[in-house]
Amino acid sequence: MTDQLWDPEFDTKPWDELQAWQRAQLAPFLTGLAGRSPFYAARLAGIDARRAAEPQLWTQVPFTTKDDLRAGQQQAVTDNMLGDLQGVEDPEVSQVIASSGTTGAPVFFGLTEEDRLAWTDSIANMFFTAGIRKDSVVALTTGMPLVAGGMPYADAIRRIGATLVWVGGQTPARMVAITEKLKVDTIVGTASFATFFAGRCAEVLERPASELAVRTIIAGGEPGLGQEAIRGRIRSDWGATRISEVMGLGDVMSGLWGECPEGPGMHFTAGRNVYVELIDPDTGDIVEWTPGAKGEAVYTTFTRQATPVLRFRSRDHLEVLATSECACGRTAPVVRCIGRTDDMLIYKAMNVFPSAIRDVVMEGFSAEIAGPLRLRKERTEQVRFDDPIPLEIELPAGAGGPEAGDLAWRIGERVRERLRVRVAVEFVDPGTIAIGEYKNALTYARA
Ligand SMILES: [Zn+2]
Repeated sequence: MTDQLWDPEFDTKPWDELQAWQRAQLAPFLTGLAGRSPFYAARLAGIDARRAAEPQLWTQVPFTTKDDLRAGQQQAVTDNMLGDLQGVEDPEVSQVIASSGTTGAPVFFGLTEEDRLAWTDSIANMFFTAGIRKDSVVALTTGMPLVAGGMPYADAIRRIGATLVWVGGQTPARMVAITEKLKVDTIVGTASFATFFAGRCAEVLERPASELAVRTIIAGGEPGLGQEAIRGRIRSDWGATRISEVMGLGDVMSGLWGECPEGPGMHFTAGRNVYVELIDPDTGDIVEWTPGAKGEAVYTTFTRQATPVLRFRSRDHLEVLATSECACGRTAPVVRCIGRTDDMLIYKAMNVFPSAIRDVVMEGFSAEIAGPLRLRKERTEQVRFDDPIPLEIELPAGAGGPEAGDLAWRIGERVRERLRVRVAVEFVDPGTIAIGEYKNALTYARA
């Protein structure tokens, strides 16, 4: 470790060299996997695992989806506790993690003791990159130990040597009191939570949250922190000097990407344990790591024993912001998450992420609106829209009147120009759109 790098050897390895090293780990990984897991044995039939490092062979390896994992667990032919995904005997599993999936039944994953140490090291790298140090006092706001952002985050924060203050699961009033009393300087949570919690601090303490000692906000779990207007709000609410976005996935590893002090955008921080590819989500073709490239992240956990994943489709769409060596010294590409396939809407034939609409509105009009906005669906499962998508936006108290019609028109035009979709702007009173405690939904269905 240096002052700035958790893992100097891997953090500064040129990306193509790192990926070549990772590819060399794939052949032994695949060979072992087929022998250990009936789920993968079936999927790898006919593939010469010894040649897995060859790109033309690797791309024949089938993708794994969340539905595959769920089926491998729910319709297992083995009696392993974690179903057919499991690659070790039951007693070797030292911890179980539940995916907090918003769609469908939860899937459970396991870690052996060795897996747990690998996770702790890589997730620590993510938090170190995001600004946590030995002298940090960190409030972890996740409420549940069972989820990927629970115990694994706690382990990683302690691994850095920081002071862990696990406040999640308490009432907001108690969380506020603890944050004040222990002079917490770093908060780990979602961007929505950081906003919500600043409001509660101000209410409970009757003075602004910026008067507390909190100066670093580390947030993940939702796309959007890449947006300057949202950052600006969190910065001023907390008087924060550092805002870092992080990203992970319970199915793969709960910490994979972290933002360095240069920001914005996140470096890949799990290179010792996870191989990441970018693909075109429609064709499955590989997308090269070049600035401006967009694609879905696909992960292979080449060191994981208990429940490995092979070419796992994350459904997270990334945009590559930079690939040259960063001023922080790290060599992994810098990306931002532009949305999830699960959230995607279709207006006529155009695909659009709700987060993209939010970003366009916040970028152009944050000075004129109150902040919260959401898209309204007729039913929860609605994806397609033939008419302009209803977009509810809060106006500041006292705004409205004739100017509001002009503002609605300008917002609609900007969204149409940028995204080629139409929205029907409806202004609502301040406080109409609840700011979620854990995640801010950008869409909701009319009850
Ligand atoms: Zn950097």
